[in-house]
Parts: sequence; structure tokens; C-alpha cells
Amino acid sequence: MIAVIGAGASGLVAAIIAARAGAKVSVYEKNSKVGRKILATGNGRCNITNEDIKTSNFHGQNPSFVNHSLNHFNTLTCKKFFEELGIVMIEGQKGRLYPKSAQSSSVVDVLVYECERLGVEINLDSEVTSIAQSEGGFSLHVKEKNLHVRKVLIATGGLAMPTLGSCESGYVFAKKLGHTIVNPYASLVQLVCSEDVKSISGVKCEGDVEVLVDGKVCANAYGDILFTNYGVSGSAILDVSRVASQALQRKADVKLKLDLASEYTKEQLKNILERRKKSAFEKSVSFWLEGFINSKLANFITKSLHVRFAKELNNKDLSKIVFGLKNFILSVEDTKGFKSAEVTAGGVRVEEINPTTLESNLIQNLYFSGEVLDIDGDCGGYNLHWAWASGYMAGKSLAK
Ligand SMILES: Cc1cc2nc3c(=O)[nH]c(=O)nc-3n(C[C@H](O)[C@H](O)[C@H](O)COP(=O)(O)OP(=O)(O)OC[C@H]3O[C@@H](n4cnc5c(N)ncnc54)[C@H](O)[C@@H]3O)c2cc1C
Repeated sequence: MIAVIGAGASGLVAAIIAARAGAKVSVYEKNSKVGRKILATGNGRCNITNEDIKTSNFHGQNPSFVNHSLNHFNTLTCKKFFEELGIVMIEGQKGRLYPKSAQSSSVVDVLVYECERLGVEINLDSEVTSIAQSEGGFSLHVKEKNLHVRKVLIATGGLAMPTLGSCESGYVFAKKLGHTIVNPYASLVQLVCSEDVKSISGVKCEGDVEVLVDGKVCANAYGDILFTNYGVSGSAILDVSRVASQALQRKADVKLKLDLASEYTKEQLKNILERRKKSAFEKSVSFWLEGFINSKLANFITKSLHVRFAKELNNKDLSKIVFGLKNFILSVEDTKGFKSAEVTAGGVRVEEINPTTLESNLIQNLYFSGEVLDIDGDCGGYNLHWAWASGYMAGKSLAK
């Protein structure tokens, strides 16, 4: 018998693939529902995968670990797998693929239905509390009972969003069985800044973000920037958050440089502002910038100049506003942590896992897949893709 620990994205696909190859599979899930995290993905729409999946979208100490799984389970394989289950995919921005139903529940439903069709046993409210090697396999402690199984897949996910079931048990099991854990940290996460940006909380704009680690540009992204009462969020911030989060781990100085008018050069911006100044000479500064940038943001930037009317602005002030819009600097002091993160970076060290089978190099018949491993992806369907792809490979090897 094969035991899959975790009825998340990776565990469900592994169970299906192993059962299709004739294996008898039992899945153990601590939650009272299957795939709780899948339900929360893509704002309830589930960004299943991406049209453009490549190794560079994945991170960890050894990202090339994903190559074998991606070669065998690429976007086409993923589309085919889900289409056969009834999910038609449609493309959103940046190659992101979603179910046409726009409901993540449809993804969970078809996976559960396929498990049922194949006779996979799904045990809910069944937290595995320990795994130990025993003769010819493993002994699993579940609900006050010891179960003997021949093979085990640990698909327990990472630490992101504990309200959805995430916990450290996968790391605890792996460590106890001799594996090394690369220190987990939050990724795809909101950033806490030391500056007081409460007055612009709720303001959303598009712009370029650069992460400066000890003064050096280490990541950049373009997209939504959302100011909040603690700092910043939005797609561009999530995209660069991994680099910021990792740097904070080693106590580096982390700053964000926001360009809130990236469609203009400094000269173009200054010309525009000069023209607006002329046309709204007698008006307040907030009116002067009305319709150009968010009025709260305009007030925030101009407040430091202590000017109330457009006519009070001199050439130097205009340059300062231009500079403020294109070089809006924030000091990052923390992330919002695992409570609000979408993904965990770090996890079970992949050098100790066979990349072609997902089997442990240390213990025969022990397998790992999904986010519990030291692999995390960019925002855009890459994390689920890794969960499906590694589950697919593990499922194939488990059945052998
Ligand atoms: C809010 C949010 C939105 C996201 N949106 C997207 C998106 O749109 N696209 C994308 O690609 N990625 C997205 N992600 C990331 C993606 O959901 C995860 O990377 C992916 O679900 C990981 O799959 P997994 O199977 O490894 O782990 P999980 O899906 O976390 O599943 C692990 C399961 O194991 C169970 N478990 C843990 N320990 C035990 C135990 N001891 N015994 C029994 N059961 C146990 C857990 O309860 C859980 O159900 C999002 C994440 C979040 C939090």
C-alpha cells in the first residue's frame, strides 16, 4: 500500500497517477476538506499553470532540480491532464491559465472525482503525527493508530497561510528521517516598511519596483503597487518579495525604489508638470496634479515641500516632485510573514532527492513532492505547476 500525506495539489495528482498505474493508494489529510489551499488560489479562480514555464521561473538552492519534472510535465501535459478531467483552460494576463469556470472549486472537484473513480481512499481529519521506518516499509501514526505502508509520499506543502492547513510537519518528518531542511522563509508576500504610509493606504498605481539590497539592485518588476497601512503590496511587490525576504533573513539593508511614473522620462515628466502648473496656477497642489496621479499620493509627495498652491512651486520644487515620483524610496523592515504569504521558499534539500523519481536518496520508498521541497516559483501559476509536475513524477515512480 502507498500512503500519500497531504490532499493538496501535489498529493492529489500523485495519488491519481499512481492509482492509474494500478497502485493501491490511501491519502491522509489533516483538514476536514480536500485541497483547501487550491480553493484559495488565484483569488478563487486558480491560476493552474502558465503558457511559458521554464527553469528560470523556479528558485531554491538548486533550481535545475525541476528540469526532469518540467520536461515530463510541461504546460501541454498539464492542459491535457486537466482537459481529460473536464477542465477547459483560458488564458489571462502574462500567459496565466485559469479554468474557464473561473472557479478553483472546479479544479478540486475534478481531482476528487478522479480519485473516487480510481478507488483512491481519501481520509479526512487524519493528521499523520509521525513516520518511522519499519520492516519492509514505514509505520505511520494516524488518529491514535499505527499503520504499516510500503511506500510514503510526503506532500505536506510549506508554511504559507497556516489557516489553510499549512504546518511544519513535512519538515519535522524529513528531518527525523535524516534529511536536511533549507531554512524556510516567506515568499510572494507583502512588505512592511519603516516609513509611515498610512495616509496613502489604499492607493493603487502601476509602476516599476527595484529591490536594493545593501545599495545594489537585486530584483525588479513592473505591475501594481498597493500602499497599505503597514507598507506595500500588489503584484509588482509580490514579484520581488522573495529577494527582499531572503535578504532580510541575512539582516541585509533592504530598500524599495518605486518609479510611479515609469511611462515618462524625468524630462518628459518635468515638462508635463510645468504645463500643468501654468494651467492651474491659482489652484492648490492637489488640484494641480488632479487626474495625473492619485490625489492622496500627490499630497503625500508635495507635503514634504510645504507648498499649498501651484504658484508657490519653483523650478527646484518641480525637480524634487519629479524625483519623488520616479525615486520613491521605502525601507523594508520585514515581510508580513507566513500568515499572509502565498508560498514558502526553502524546505527539504533537493540534493538529497532523486530528481527523476522524487525518491529520497537516503531512504528507499520515501518520496517528496510539491512545496515541501526547497523549490518555489514566481507568481503566475508556477507554484501550482511545480506541485502538479512533481506530484505527477512521484506518482509514476510510486507505482513502479
Ligand atoms: C492565497 C494563495 C493563493 C495562491 N494562488 C496561487 C495561484 O493562483 N497559482 C499558483 O501557481 N500558486 C498559487 N499559490 C501557491 C500554491 O497554492 C501552492 O504552492 C501549492 O498549493 C502547493 O501544493 P502542495 O500540494 O505542495 O501543498 P498544499 O496545497 O499546501 O497541500 C498540502 C496538504 O497537506 C496537508 N497536511 C500537512 N501536514 C499534514 C499531516 N501531517 N497530515 C495530513 N495532512 C497534512 C495540508 O493540510 C494540505 O492540505 C497560492 C497560495 C496561496 C496561499
